[in-house]
Amino acid sequence: MSTNSTFSIIGCGHSESFDHFNTNALIRSAQGNLLIDAGYTIKPALHAQGLSIADINAVFITHVHGDHVFGLERLAYESMFRYQTRITLYFHESLFDELWHQTLKGSMGRHGDGEATLGDYFDLVPLSSLTCEIYSHQFQFFQNKHTPGKPSFGFTIDDFLFYSGDTTAIPEIVSRLPFEIGFHDVTLMPVNPVHAAYDSLLEQYSPEIRQKLYLMSYEDHWPEYLARVEKNFAGFATQGMTVALCS
Ligand SMILES: [Zn+2]
Repeated sequence: MSTNSTFSIIGCGHSESFDHFNTNALIRSAQGNLLIDAGYTIKPALHAQGLSIADINAVFITHVHGDHVFGLERLAYESMFRYQTRITLYFHESLFDELWHQTLKGSMGRHGDGEATLGDYFDLVPLSSLTCEIYSHQFQFFQNKHTPGKPSFGFTIDDFLFYSGDTTAIPEIVSRLPFEIGFHDVTLMPVNPVHAAYDSLLEQYSPEIRQKLYLMSYEDHWPEYLARVEKNFAGFATQGMTVALCS
């Protein structure tokens, strides 16, 4: 296992946020840099970390919403036409139709040289199982509970780091997975059918689990919740916060 990799939050905002970028993350390793999702703020989010699209070697997509995939067009065009690089695109195979035919093909299906497929822009790795090794790290994926009927995934890395993806509360999943530090979706609105309301996490997760979780994907009135989040959880995830991925 690589011992000098890091996991960074490069955006932690709700899709409506002015204060924060889209909730996306980045794994830096000796073998390459892997984005976790690429929303429509991906270019300024990378710039804020001193990086550009030229520094990205691979992307894993959790699900097909704009704040997680609309940045793929920018990654595709700049890697192909500006930097002459190839980015590897990892996604569960159940996402492909939504990702290409229903979302990206409208803008990317044709470029200056004619018709184009998703595989013309990226090295595609559709995943048929829920486990995968990327850059010497073991990913264990799970279906979370986001928009009903829509495929959406979270994961753990090396049984060490938990990442919920966009989801409502999933105590039955969180409680069975081994991890030491976690990042979990939250919404600070009282009720939400597709994101995890703060009170639902407080009620459904044990104190032992809550103390390991940083909350992400939050709205701009987060200061109103700061004291109670720091009391009941590890805290709010912040942009640029970095965790060493070590065995
Ligand atoms: Zn979403």
